[in-house]
Amino acid sequence: MYETIKSQDPGVYGSMIAEAKRQSEGIELIPSENYVSQAVLEANGSILTNKYSEGYPGKRYYGGQENVDVIENLAIDRAKQLFGAEHANVQPYSGSPANTAIYFALLEFGDTVMGLRLDHGGHITHGLPIAFSGRAYHFVQYGVNPETGTIDMDEVRKMALEHKPKMIVAGFTAYPRDIEWKKFKEIADEVGALTMADISHTAGLIAGKALESPVPYFDVVMTTTHKTLRGPRGAIILCKEKYAKAIDKAVFPGLQGGPHEHAIAAKAVAFGEALKPEFKEYAMQVRKNAYHLAEEMKKRGFKLVSDGTDTHLILADLTSRNVPGKLAQQALDETGITLNKNTVPNDPRSPFDPSGIRLGTPAVTTRGMKEAEMEKIAEWIDRVIADAENTANLKTVKKEVEELCSKFPVPGIKL
Ligand SMILES: *Cc1c(COP(=O)(O)O)cnc(C)c1O
Repeated sequence: MYETIKSQDPGVYGSMIAEAKRQSEGIELIPSENYVSQAVLEANGSILTNKYSEGYPGKRYYGGQENVDVIENLAIDRAKQLFGAEHANVQPYSGSPANTAIYFALLEFGDTVMGLRLDHGGHITHGLPIAFSGRAYHFVQYGVNPETGTIDMDEVRKMALEHKPKMIVAGFTAYPRDIEWKKFKEIADEVGALTMADISHTAGLIAGKALESPVPYFDVVMTTTHKTLRGPRGAIILCKEKYAKAIDKAVFPGLQGGPHEHAIAAKAVAFGEALKPEFKEYAMQVRKNAYHLAEEMKKRGFKLVSDGTDTHLILADLTSRNVPGKLAQQALDETGITLNKNTVPNDPRSPFDPSGIRLGTPAVTTRGMKEAEMEKIAEWIDRVIADAENTANLKTVKKEVEELCSKFPVPGIKL
C-alpha cells in the first residue's frame, strides 16, 4: 500500500502503515466510525481534489465544470433517492458546518432553539454554551428521564409550550434508543416550530430501512456521511423543497467556499453502495449485533443506560464495576479494543474521566462479524474491566483479539 508515499515521504508513510495495522489488528467499537470500501477510498483520493467549483451544478463561477457537474448531480440524485427527500445539498464539509448552515439558513441570531443536552447524548452543535451554536442562538435543552434513560416526550412538550422555540432539533451522538420522530413533529406543529433531525449516527440504519426515517415528517434532515452510512468524511442536508433555496444559499456562499468534489464523488459512490440490497442486510446486522452485544454485556453484569439499545450504539455505566471510564478505555486500548469513555446521564464524574463507555457495532459489522463474535467481544470487555491494571491479563486478551481479527479482513487494507 502507498508505494509512492513510501519512497517520497517516509515520515507520513510510517504512521499511515501503523494506522492501517491498528485498524486491521484491533476491534473498532467507536460507534461513529466505520470502514469505507476500496471504491470510496479511490474517489476520495482522486484527482477531483484538484478542481475548484464554487456554486452549484449548472451555476458555477469557474470554467471546466463539465465533469464535476455530472458527479455532483449523481450524488444529489442518489441522496434524494436513498432517503426519499425532496432536496439534497451534498456540499457540507462535515456535520458541524452542515448544522451551522441549517441554523444560518432558517434562524436569526438569538432565536430560541430546543436541543438534547450534550451530557445526555446531544452533540456540541446542539447548543453547547461554549460552541458556536450555544453562543449564536438561545438554546433550551431537554434531557433524558433519570429512571428510564430515554427522552421524556412529555417533558419535551412542556418545554416547547413554555419556551415557544423557533426550531426543535432531534438527534444524538450518545443515545442508544430510537427517536419518536412523529411525536417531535406533533409537538413542533403545536408550537409552530421548525423541525431539524440530525441523523448523523443512524443514517446508515435509516437508509438501510432498519430504523424509521424522519424525512417524511421533518422540515430539514442532516447527516454526516462517514458514520453508519459508510461514506467519506462529510455531510449532506436534506429538506423540503420550500427550504431548498435558503439551505443552498446558507451553505454557499453563506458559510463555505469551493466544495470538495473528491469528497462529493466519494459520497456518490457510497450512496450507490447504500442503494444496493446488500446494504439492507448490513443495516439489519448492525442492529442485531448491537442488540446481541448489549444482551451479552448485561449477562456479565454490565449496567446499560436505558437497559439496552435500538440502534448501533450502547452506553454502559461502569459505576457498579468500580472502574472509571478513562481507565476502561485505556485498558481496552492495550488489548486492541477501541471505544471511548463517555458521560452517562447525570454523571457525577467529570467529562475527562466520566463513569461510562460508549460502544457500537458499525465497523465490526462491515468486517463481517456476527452474533458469535459479539459474544467474544463482550467476554473480552468483561475480562479487561474485571482486572484492568493487570498487564498479563491485557496481553492475553490482546493475543485473542488479534487472532480473531486476522480472520476478518478490512476493506481497503492490504498489508
Ligand atoms: C458526528 C456528529 C456531528 C458532527 O459531525 P462532524 O463531521 O464531526 O463535524 C453532528 N451531529 C451529530 C449528532 C453527530 O453525531
